[in-house]
Amino acid sequence: MSDMITIALTKGRILEETLPLLAAANIEPEEDISKSRKLVFATNQSDVQLLVLRGADVPTYVQFGAADMGISGKDTLMENGAEGLYEPLDLRIASCQLMTAAIKGSSPKAGRIRVATKYVNIAKQYYAAQGRQSDIIKLYGAMELAPIMGLADEIVDIVDTGNTLRANGLEAREFIADISSRLIVNKASMKMKHVRIQAIIDGIAQAVDAGKN
Ligand code: AMP
Repeated sequence: MSDMITIALTKGRILEETLPLLAAANIEPEEDISKSRKLVFATNQSDVQLLVLRGADVPTYVQFGAADMGISGKDTLMENGAEGLYEPLDLRIASCQLMTAAIKGSSPKAGRIRVATKYVNIAKQYYAAQGRQSDIIKLYGAMELAPIMGLADEIVDIVDTGNTLRANGLEAREFIADISSRLIVNKASMKMKHVRIQAIIDGIAQAVDAGKN
């Protein structure tokens, strides 16, 4: 195992909230990530590099040890499982809720229901735990369209302000889980590079507690 610490991040909205947390641990990319097409970034720390990945790929890199640490949404961790990972810190960014939703005012369907979602595993577990029979339909986006077009009775999706649901004539129904971004660490890395990784966790934790994000 090299001495390099590799941290996996995602681009976009969450990156803007992530960088100040890393800066609090004295880790700053050497160039503007949002303006570059590169996927690997050196930092002001010669032993720390950043990877920029698709959100769903962050836990995979960390699970297999291709990255030592990462920042991942709790929704992704719940959907894909978190084997081989520690989840030492709730970063309290990108907070939202995982909910079921249906057409506004529609009466809940009795019996077996069809549910459209990209969170197939979470949805299966949720409806099973409720004792409701469900057929889960995997979609990759625009879940809100599914009930309108008669593809599904309900959806399972992320809700923040609820504007997207409202704009499409839907309403949130049942709460499934609170979601936010989490710091994740590969279990072997945590052992082998403990001092360095713990210092990074502590720096980020202080910034989270101080509400710097
Ligand atoms: P809203 O209209 O504010 O309820 O936001 C709903 C849509 O924005 C969802 O369908 C998600 O695709 C996206 N979204 C909102 N917040 C988050 C978040 N914290 N993480 C990932 N996606 C989000």
